[in-house]
Amino acid sequence: MNDTAVITGASRGIGRAAAEALAKQGFRTALIYRNSGTAAEKLVSQLRERGTDAECYACDVSSFSQVKDVSEKILRRFGRVDVLVNNAGISQIRLFTDITEKDWDRMFDVNVKGIFNCCRHFLPQMISRKSGKIINISSMWGIQGASCEVHYSASKAAVIGFTKALAQEVGPSGITVNCVAPGVIDTDMNAELNGEDRKRLSDEIPLERIGTPGDVADMIAFLASEKAGYITGQVFGVNGGMVL
Ligand code: NAP
Repeated sequence: MNDTAVITGASRGIGRAAAEALAKQGFRTALIYRNSGTAAEKLVSQLRERGTDAECYACDVSSFSQVKDVSEKILRRFGRVDVLVNNAGISQIRLFTDITEKDWDRMFDVNVKGIFNCCRHFLPQMISRKSGKIINISSMWGIQGASCEVHYSASKAAVIGFTKALAQEVGPSGITVNCVAPGVIDTDMNAELNGEDRKRLSDEIPLERIGTPGDVADMIAFLASEKAGYITGQVFGVNGGMVL
């Protein structure tokens, strides 16, 4: 297969697992990270050892100009982008009355504008080829809302609105746009959870465990596959039944 997948936030956590799953599925992979160059380069070496054509790129997805530069590099290197996984994101736990303007702006710059920037730069070649799949990573908190995470929840709700609107606009161009809304997943984003927190959370989840990055990557890989060709504008919860 010569198809190429771009995965943002691929140095760690869900993005890394998605890159591995898509590589296994036969995609060439272009990995975007912000700071973790060593981890991203190590993943590229591992993927190449397994026979995948892979490359990594440092880029802050909140910067329109950095995403423009990187999209041009990726399109020069791989020739085309078939799948875009908008996974890069940040979170913050803070009382609403302690959220600063800077906190709010950074949350939306990364979690929402980052997706705008990537779609804005990778979509035109998908539209001209009349084919492509975009997979945006939201959160169950974008559906349910979480106390002490108003800015995070609002940004993830925006990702759902973005997905549904863009799916309608680019459907006639043969492009699908879907959203994955993970629950509590065992990544650095939840590193502050102690044993007691994890036990309490697991007790609240019908499937009685915190999710793995692989659980989410499996859904991403399905949405990137030909089997998901007639699915667009949808939000898929991967949360062990925590939010229904
Ligand atoms: P993570 O382990 O904290 O990893 C975040 C990834 O995003 C890293 O690769 C990081 O790059 C990258 N990133 C962050 N800001 C960036 C920026 N401005 N530009 C480019 N890359 C950036 O997070 P995760 O748990 O895997 O989460 C991945 C996605 O799933 C996020 O959108 C998150 O909101 C969502 N999600 C996570 C959970 C969960 O429980 N973990 C639940 C629901 C939704 P560096 O390594 O270079 O910093």
